[in-house]
Amino acid sequence: MSLLSPEWTGLLYLVAAVCFILALRGLSSPKTARRGNLIGAAGALLAVITVFLSARIENIPAILIAIAVGSAIAAPISRRVEMTQMPQLVALFNGVGGGAAALVAMLELGSSESPWTKVAVVFTMLVGAVSFSGSAVTVGKLQGLISSRPLVFPGLALVMGGIVLAALVAGGFVVATGAPLWAVILLVIGLVVGALLVLPVGGADVPIVISLLNAFTGLAVAASGIVIGNLLLVVAGTLVGASGTILTRAMASAMGRGVSGILFGAFKGGSTAGSTTQSDRPVRTSNPEDVAVLLNYAQRVVIVPGYGLAVAQGQHTIAELATTLEARGVEVVFAIHPVAGRMPGHMNVLLAEANVPYESLREMAEVNPEFKNTDVALVVGANDVVNPAAKTSPGSPIYGMPILDVGDARQVVFLKRSMRPGFAGIENELLYDPKTSLLFGDAKDSLTKMLGAVNAL
Ligand code: NDP
Repeated sequence: MSLLSPEWTGLLYLVAAVCFILALRGLSSPKTARRGNLIGAAGALLAVITVFLSARIENIPAILIAIAVGSAIAAPISRRVEMTQMPQLVALFNGVGGGAAALVAMLELGSSESPWTKVAVVFTMLVGAVSFSGSAVTVGKLQGLISSRPLVFPGLALVMGGIVLAALVAGGFVVATGAPLWAVILLVIGLVVGALLVLPVGGADVPIVISLLNAFTGLAVAASGIVIGNLLLVVAGTLVGASGTILTRAMASAMGRGVSGILFGAFKGGSTAGSTTQSDRPVRTSNPEDVAVLLNYAQRVVIVPGYGLAVAQGQHTIAELATTLEARGVEVVFAIHPVAGRMPGHMNVLLAEANVPYESLREMAEVNPEFKNTDVALVVGANDVVNPAAKTSPGSPIYGMPILDVGDARQVVFLKRSMRPGFAGIENELLYDPKTSLLFGDAKDSLTKMLGAVNAL
């Protein structure tokens, strides 16, 4: 027996849908992201409770056990995961969502004779399975379980073409016959397509593919809403599909890439991965004391945080260093590149964790003209996002990616551990520039020593 009338159910679904929209709005700015996230979670909780109260559900104990097991696994993983592993976590949860949508649609196959519902079943199963296996491969690549290099084999394009054709045939049989065997075949084909789609993608592009697969899951969930006649799933899935698509495009353009080039580049024989090269030319090295003097007597310092700052967990130390310098009259701002780190907004989240005021952050377009009037650009664990090869080397994998013009500053200091390149695997000419000095060591360690040296001045 259902406890809620259809009117109340519709009203509560509407409230949940509004929560999802407000959540997306909140997530569009670092200032409101935390609140947005909570509103979205509240909307999802309301939706789940509404389903329990409104629908005639069988097997409630089994469902509750499944929810408990899922929560018991997901909650500790989410708590413990390092910020740098966040893309893997997002991919994992996203893949599970796609897989769940595919299974729900498959189980509903026999419940309707309408060919349109069966088309929705086929779409959900195929896209959900692609999202599941594709996400599993991205987790493997980012976690280092499989090679992050593009994995290709001769005839890949042909095999892919054949499998897509097989998917269409199997989908046609599912619609025509509704036979479970064809549904299972379709599911397996979807899993193979997902894996083959992602294996040829190079490591640096994997987070973009995760965002694309997120959009796929959204579409699969929306289609599953049509299959089981649940309007909220249609709304929520469409929102995820649309926002995932927008994010994918924004990330690709921030890296100067096209989405189709990322997905199908390897099929055409090209590769988006860089080759690791290291030269033994001399560089100018420095020590924490000298860098402290440089910063202390500067008028304006721009800090460029990158992936290495997140790895070193040096955000609190860098925030303290900035405050100390400001107290001594130095103007300090943080320059944020949109793809610094390993996920969109990575640096915003990292610096927010250390309570760096939002007013101290500058976006790329805003800060680039200001480097000319900057005494010291302090590059902390960043590399690709300041690499001039993006402007000067047409053959480079990052060519065309907008960069922070730190080379325009009077002095540049890099904090890194070695001469190893960044994610794209290419050398950075700026490291050899006469105005650049390098302070080798773990970023947090170097920052702590620099802070001590500034305080001692
Ligand atoms: P990079 O990966 O280019 O460089 C990171 C730098 O940090 C390296 O020079 C590394 O040098 C240094 N480093 C690593 N660990 C430490 C440590 N503990 N202490 C000090 N230094 C350290 O990072 P960027 O942020 O500049 O660029 C991000 C890259 O990731 C770009 O190529 C971008 O396209 C890519 N990317 C970003 C996505 C996003 O959404 N943000 C998505 C997909 C890709 P060393 O090893 O010598 O210390």
